[in-house]
Amino acid sequence: MNAPDSTATGTGAAPVRANLLGMNRAQLEAFFLEMGEKKFRAQQVLKWIHHAGVTDIGQMSNLGKALREKLQAVAEVRPPQIVSQQDSADGTRKWAVRVDGGGLVETVLIPTAGRATLCVSSQVGCSLDCSFCSTGKQGFQRDLSSAEIIGQVWLAIKSYDAFQSGKGRIVTNVVLMGMGEPLLNFDNVVTAMDLMLEDLAYGLSKRRVTLSTSGVVPALDRLAGVSEVSLAVSLHAPNDALRDQLVPINRKYPIAMLLRSCRDYMAAQSDRNRVVTIEYTLIAGVNDRVEHARELAQLLRDLPCKINLIPFNPFDQSDYRRPGGNAVSRFWQVLVDAGYIVTVRTTRGDDIDAACGQLVGQVVDRTRRSERYRGAQDSQVIKVG
Ligand code: SAH
Ligand code: SF4
Repeated sequence: MNAPDSTATGTGAAPVRANLLGMNRAQLEAFFLEMGEKKFRAQQVLKWIHHAGVTDIGQMSNLGKALREKLQAVAEVRPPQIVSQQDSADGTRKWAVRVDGGGLVETVLIPTAGRATLCVSSQVGCSLDCSFCSTGKQGFQRDLSSAEIIGQVWLAIKSYDAFQSGKGRIVTNVVLMGMGEPLLNFDNVVTAMDLMLEDLAYGLSKRRVTLSTSGVVPALDRLAGVSEVSLAVSLHAPNDALRDQLVPINRKYPIAMLLRSCRDYMAAQSDRNRVVTIEYTLIAGVNDRVEHARELAQLLRDLPCKINLIPFNPFDQSDYRRPGGNAVSRFWQVLVDAGYIVTVRTTRGDDIDAACGQLVGQVVDRTRRSERYRGAQDSQVIKVG
C-alpha cells in the first residue's frame, strides 16, 4: 500500500500536511498510532469526513480540543477544487475538477431509475493512447492521488448538499471509467476503492463499484488478491490483429492473456455469480461487421460476461465514425442470438455533452463520457432503434 497522501500546503518552509481525505481505515489507524493516539480515532475521523462532509478539523468535536490542535498541525482534509459544473435537463451533472499542479479532470453523475452512477477519473490524461479515445490523445500528465480520486465522490455528494440533509444516497454506484487507466495508478485507486466500500465512509457494495481497464494484465492479476469490485474490460476487437491497432497495450498483453486474467479474477471472487462486463466500442467500418460479432461470440464463450456495446463518440482529432443504427442492431442481434446479455448505449441529444469539451478547457472531451458507462450498470437489454 502506498504512503498516506501528503501534499505541501504552501511554499518555502510551509509544513507538509497529510491529507486525511485520501486515507483508508488501515492508513488512518497507522497514522494515529504513529502520533501516539488510539487507533479508534480513525473511525471518528472517517465518519466526520465521509459521512458528515466536514473538512475543518476544528469541527470534529468528539476528538477533544488537544487532539484537534495536534492534528491540525500535521494534517488537513483537502478535497480537489470544482472549476465548473453543468446540469443537463435529464439530471446529469458534470464537474471539471482542478487537481494539484493545475491539471483538470472530469467527473460525471448520471441519475437513472432508482440509482445514480458517478463516473470518476483516475489519472490526468492517459499513457495508453487507444486510437479512438480523446483522453489518450492528451498524453499522460500524472496519476491522481487517492484523495483526488475519492475526493470526486466527496465533491459530488457535497454539491447536492447531501451529506447530512437526509436526501438519501446521492451516489449509489461508482464506475472508474473517467479519464485514465485505473490499473496504472494501482495503489491510489485501490485505496480510494477501499473508501468507497468502507461502511464508515461510503458503504457501497462491491457490485456497485466497477473498475474499467484496457487490460493491464499483471495489475489485474494483482487486483484479484486485494479487491472484489466489479470488473469491466475494454476489449473493442475480437482478434489480436485488430486489437493491436485499437488498443496498443494489446501488443504487450494479447487477448488470450487478458481473458485468462479475467477468468482468474472472477474465480478469486467469493461470490461465483458475478460476470465481467465486456466493453466494445463500435467504430464504423473498423470493428462493427457481422463477422466481428460472430468472432466475438466465439471468443467469449467460456467467460461469464455481459457485453456493453458503445457506439463510437466522435471528437475533433479523430477520423473514426459512429456506426448507424442498423449496423449496431445487426451486431447486437448476432450476440443476442448466441445467448449473450448485451446492452447498447442509446444516442441521446444530451444537452450538456455537446459542451463537454468547453467544460474542461484544454481537456477536450467530446466523447460523451456519460454515455459510455451507463450500460456498465444497466441490467436490461436496450435495443438501438
Ligand atoms: N482506461 C480505462 C477506463 C477509462 S475509458 C479503459 O480503457 O477501460 C472508459 C471506456 O470508454 C472504455 O471502454 C473506453 O474504451 C471507452 N471510450 C473511450 N473513448 C471512447 C469514444 N470516443 N467513444 C466511445 N467509447 C470510448
Ligand atoms: Fe487510456 Fe482507457 Fe482512453 Fe485507452 S480508452 S487511452 S486506456 S483512458
